[in-house]
Amino acid sequence: MQKKFLLAPGPTPVPEKALLAMAEPMFHHRTPQFEAIFKEAAEGLKWLFQTEKDVLILAASGTGGMEASVANFFSPGDKVVVVNGGKFGERWTKICQTYGLKVTEIMVEWGKAVDPKAVADALKADPEIRGVFVQASETSTTACHPVKELAEIVKRHDNTILIVDGITAVGVYDIPMDKWGIDILVTGSQKALMLPPGLAFVGVSDKAWKFNETAKCPRFYFDLKRERKNLKDNTTAYTPAVSLIIGLREVFKAMKEEGLENIFARHNRLARATRAAMQAIGLKLLAPEAPAESCTGVYAPEGVDGGKLFKVLKDTLGVTMAGGQDHLKGKVLRIAHLGYVDTFDTIVAVASIEMALKKSGYAVPMGKGVAAAQEILLEGYK
Ligand SMILES: *Cc1c(COP(=O)(O)O)cnc(C)c1O
Repeated sequence: MQKKFLLAPGPTPVPEKALLAMAEPMFHHRTPQFEAIFKEAAEGLKWLFQTEKDVLILAASGTGGMEASVANFFSPGDKVVVVNGGKFGERWTKICQTYGLKVTEIMVEWGKAVDPKAVADALKADPEIRGVFVQASETSTTACHPVKELAEIVKRHDNTILIVDGITAVGVYDIPMDKWGIDILVTGSQKALMLPPGLAFVGVSDKAWKFNETAKCPRFYFDLKRERKNLKDNTTAYTPAVSLIIGLREVFKAMKEEGLENIFARHNRLARATRAAMQAIGLKLLAPEAPAESCTGVYAPEGVDGGKLFKVLKDTLGVTMAGGQDHLKGKVLRIAHLGYVDTFDTIVAVASIEMALKKSGYAVPMGKGVAAAQEILLEGYK
């Protein structure tokens, strides 16, 4: 027997109560029973996004929400800026180009955050730029981009909206959509929302809805204007992912009980504990200057293949984390600490890394990282 642990940056573990709620026998969605559940879930999203605006619910993985954010607000030929500091930044570029937008990329070294001045300069240089696309938390490099500063900059341009992939940020740290002035904020079900993959959520500002009126990119399934109309009747245009929406209502009960502030503090604590532990055992952080709160990346030590380390963790010890992509393949390990995770998930993460390193022939004193993490994790018990 081996107990498995899922500590990857999505999908993340699902709380038992949500699993049970989603196991309910199927019922029809055009019913008052479902509409009441949908209404609660939709209200929960506004609470989580910290917005007065509607947050639309799509049956798709997070990328569907990203695609909808391009297709509904732009026209072919529109000029946009993409902050590309990793795999997900690159995805914005690919989606934009698929819809015929003219993309200028601001390339950011993997593991670093974008300099807001680069975005300000790009907008100043070309007033025709209609959109700025960015990740709040670039999961592939475990770096965090300065969304608040970017929103301040984009706000000053009537002709430009800010589109934020918040897929490993919303529900992890404080990213208030209305207060900061984010125009479009996207997240998905399988990260901080602790659900199986399959739902994408898109918050839209009034400024962005104005862009929608003239946006000519083709769209059918991901037509957000149609979804907004349906949302008013507590439903979706097409068959909703009924079970996932039942799960969504359930996780909001738990999240509201914990409270946003405590949720953010928990993620911050787990992130700090993980970083301290990794540094205590001599591993180098992938994004030391602007580390994400959702996931911590570390370089495998000299002489240890990161890919093999990942495999020892997964196959020998039963702990699934994430490796590196592209040029970081085989070089890094990404340890998630978002969603349904707490103190002892982080202990598992750190202890298993120490053991996997030892198994890989790298001499690390057992328990040194765990001890460093424990000091910080204790802060959670006042
Ligand atoms: C997980 C993730 C996505 C979405 O990926 P899907 O596989 O489509 O759910 C997008 N952006 C970031 C930053 C992510 O972490």
